[in-house]
Amino acid sequence: MAMHFRPRCAMGDAMITKIIPRPEHAISRKQLNRSALQTLYRLQDHGFTAYLVGGCVRDLILGRIPKDFDICTNATPGQIKKMFRNCRLVGRRFRLAHLHFRDEIIEVATFRATAANDDGSADEANRPDSPPRHLKNEDGMIIRDNIFGTPEEDALRRDFTINALAYNIADYSVIDFTGGLTDLEQRLIRPIGDPLVRFTEDPVRMIRAIRFAATLDFAIEQETWNIIRNQASTIKRAAPARLYEEILKLFLLGSAGRVFVLLEESGLLKALFPWLNRWLQGGGGRSELINKTLQWLDNMVHEGTPPSVGLMLAALFGPSLEDQALVRHRAGIPYQQALHACCSSLYEELRETLSFPAKVGNQLRNILSLQPSLRKFPPRRPGSLVNRQDFAAARNYLRIMADAKGETLPARDWWDAYIEGRVIESSAEAVPAAPAAKRARKKRRRRRSPPPKISNQLL
Ligand code: ATP
Ligand code: MG
Repeated sequence: MAMHFRPRCAMGDAMITKIIPRPEHAISRKQLNRSALQTLYRLQDHGFTAYLVGGCVRDLILGRIPKDFDICTNATPGQIKKMFRNCRLVGRRFRLAHLHFRDEIIEVATFRATAANDDGSADEANRPDSPPRHLKNEDGMIIRDNIFGTPEEDALRRDFTINALAYNIADYSVIDFTGGLTDLEQRLIRPIGDPLVRFTEDPVRMIRAIRFAATLDFAIEQETWNIIRNQASTIKRAAPARLYEEILKLFLLGSAGRVFVLLEESGLLKALFPWLNRWLQGGGGRSELINKTLQWLDNMVHEGTPPSVGLMLAALFGPSLEDQALVRHRAGIPYQQALHACCSSLYEELRETLSFPAKVGNQLRNILSLQPSLRKFPPRRPGSLVNRQDFAAARNYLRIMADAKGETLPARDWWDAYIEGRVIESSAEAVPAAPAAKRARKKRRRRRSPPPKISNQLL
């Protein structure tokens, strides 16, 4: 990690807010989508402040296409509801407005207060009748943070400086409350305020730091990086459901290879996935292998055929599970039974920190269970194999592993040709030139069941 020094602006210090007028920044209204623009203007026409906020401003400045557009305003949820017929209010703790457009939902939130004080007492002093603005438990984790605030307070409660920029529809300026523009220029991930306090408040932010560093190809500021390395084990305190969501984003956004390296170096991998970490300790190129399997996933994302969660888990945990299953098999347990037992042990361990759906666990198990049959050459009863649940993902796993290990697998080529042939056949475009192995099987097997319906979907 590169070393970077710049005075840190502690939360609560007087911040020097910078306003960058339209001619001095690159965001143009042409980059915004119609629904977002329409929402911003409607709020403004009703006399409210309306900003684009968060990740979309960061992405627009970087010239990237934002995944979604988030809007913040000083209108209350009730006022927003009156202004928009397509509005539904969601969230029990903090009400947010979801505006339903034909093909997307725009989220509009009322500016929220910062969690800058240690115990909320200052806020209570200011507003004797109101409850404290935020509450932290004895570990310093925020357990409540749900009160309206000013635009600046809203920026200060965000995670990183680059995620706290705002675009003001009133004059098309960019507002930088926390030094985010300098960090964008220097390609730095830097928490707002004291990193130790911010990671203690919400340990998920450590994972988010890694996600942004990997996806944007930014460095994590040195002090922040040191704190993540010291605090990695506290990630287990995060809410399992949120952790699961963030982990999906880590591995499914096209930078899983880089994410893996950072997770390993930071110690977060050990804290999150002890099973995998133990296996990686065995060395012999295991880390490099996982890195390659994850890069395969990244290529799928970049090619527009994103992997399923089951395949993602298989790329991450498959090699360790198969290795362990083989060890048990050599000790006399039937392979499939050994594999299922290994999967169960892994799931038990994962459930201590993550809440992941049983369906996803089944997918991973199915993908791995199919491997011995898929690796057989020539294959037996391919017609029935393609109908097995998660066949498409299992075949992808076969390809991933063959490439990652540099194996020449006749079965892999056979399946590629078989699937390609079947797809052409089923669309009646041409009669495929069946591979040699398939022709041989066709001759031997006189009575064939009708061709199964299969899709060429990569998932
Ligand atoms: P992406 O483009 O990947 O969606 P994003 O920056 O929009 O990235 P989100 O998870 O969609 O990330 O969150 C939206 C915004 O909410 C962030 O930009 C950040 O300002 C704020 N935010 C999200 N999670 C946290 C958190 N744990 N702590 C503080 N602020 C957060
Ligand atoms: Mg977002």
